[in-house]
Amino acid sequence: MFFKKGLLIVISGPSGVGKTTLGQKLLTQYPEMKYSISVTTRKLRKTEVNGQDYVFVCMERFKKDIKKGRFAEWAEVGGNLYGTSKTFIEEAINSGYDVLLDIDVQGASQLRKLYHENGVFIFITAPSIDTLRNRLNLRKTDSEQEIDARIMLAKKEIKESNNYNYVLVNKDINKTLEDISRIISSEKRER
Ligand code: 5GP
Repeated sequence: MFFKKGLLIVISGPSGVGKTTLGQKLLTQYPEMKYSISVTTRKLRKTEVNGQDYVFVCMERFKKDIKKGRFAEWAEVGGNLYGTSKTFIEEAINSGYDVLLDIDVQGASQLRKLYHENGVFIFITAPSIDTLRNRLNLRKTDSEQEIDARIMLAKKEIKESNNYNYVLVNKDINKTLEDISRIISSEKRER
């Protein structure tokens, strides 16, 4: 029997679309799956824990890590830098673990080139821009200006969705979760 490498399950989509909730639910459903905790220069939000949601670092440290080749991908999103640890994802997939990543469209495009054999790329979108704006307002983590910027970015990101293997409209979180589970099962069967 052949040893199977794990899958990289890459989820992208506009801010406020429900990626974090979907990710948490997926990790509960698949206890063996590992979450790739990104490194970021963004400020920690009140609801976040360093080392759990992200590893929060200063710009100097992030730039050093870029030079040392520590990121499988990195990108600037909304004025902050975000990156994925190369060692973490490679050790995990080489040990047969599936890895879940929540990264933006630029990062996904970098990983698509590097890990096209192991990557499953899923874009989550909202039923409409108004739904997105409402969700961001309800979340109460961003100012009105920040929300406007996130909506502008969302419109750009949605244009990139045709580069993904799957595009899901998140109308109902449980239905979207079922769709993702079905995708994971079928991708595993195919490999
Ligand atoms: P937030 O600041 O709202 O947590 O995330 C902003 C955006 O950065 C989201 O679209 C999220 O998917 C993306 N992001 C988070 N971690 C990474 C990463 O490691 N690499 C890239 N390229 N994007 C990331």
